[in-house]
Amino acid sequence: MNILTFDIEEWFHILDNDSTKTINEWNHYESRIYANMERIFNFLDTIKVKATFFCLGWIAETYPEIVKEVVSRGYEIGTHTTMHQLIYEQSPQVFAQDLERSIKTLEDITGKKAKYFRAPGFSIRTDNRWVFDILLSQGIEIDSSIFPAPRAHGGFPSYNAVEPSILQYDGLKLKEFPINYTMILGKPFIYSGGGYFRLFPYSCIKHWTQKTSYLMTYFHPRDFDAKQPKIPALPFMRTFKSYIGLSSAFTKFQKLLTDFKFIDIAEADKMIDWEKVRTITV
Ligand SMILES: [Zn+2]
Repeated sequence: MNILTFDIEEWFHILDNDSTKTINEWNHYESRIYANMERIFNFLDTIKVKATFFCLGWIAETYPEIVKEVVSRGYEIGTHTTMHQLIYEQSPQVFAQDLERSIKTLEDITGKKAKYFRAPGFSIRTDNRWVFDILLSQGIEIDSSIFPAPRAHGGFPSYNAVEPSILQYDGLKLKEFPINYTMILGKPFIYSGGGYFRLFPYSCIKHWTQKTSYLMTYFHPRDFDAKQPKIPALPFMRTFKSYIGLSSAFTKFQKLLTDFKFIDIAEADKMIDWEKVRTITV
């Protein structure tokens, strides 16, 4: 199964960088979210594919029309936290408050319970597993934050599976849709979203997608915005990951969506026999 998801955030929501870290910095940048969402909406309309959108609470508070548009078009919405901070830099209390705020904002706009979650930068690691407890206590039923390989923001290599599973933490259970990777020369490579998707040629992405039985994508509106301003003085790797392949990314994305069948998380959830998947204790 190939699952289509987006993280709704602005072009300046770049992690690990002081000039894009908080609302004090965000207020200095122009907004590009409407045009960038419209590009995605228009294409999804054309191909009639459903997707799941993980929306920042800050976006929902600032531009509630975006959330209304997602819902009125029949797409699902989940939370990507309110303020897009790396969770392992937060205390459990601060994270819980931020999550609660995002859920309430989304519910106030949509009238529905937000039950899907994705962490900014996939920032759940073994040392902040307490996140799962908070997710469950706030009514989150499905998580898509596990990055089952080492990465700059942490990652969760001990999850050690590229398939949906029941994640068990401290006796609690949560449905998990991890990001997937492919092995190249014995190393895991991510290719299904963000800078990694923009970096690899389409022929590789197509080949890896054909080979896998599970693909979890994670696109951002900025991934397809070749005209976005460049944040000055980003560290080299962050510049590379933020801006590589922007001009060809949307064509690549259109090809992927045309060559393969995609579904949203709700559809995937229905298709999976949760009694039969692996239970992974973290
Ligand atoms: Zn994000």
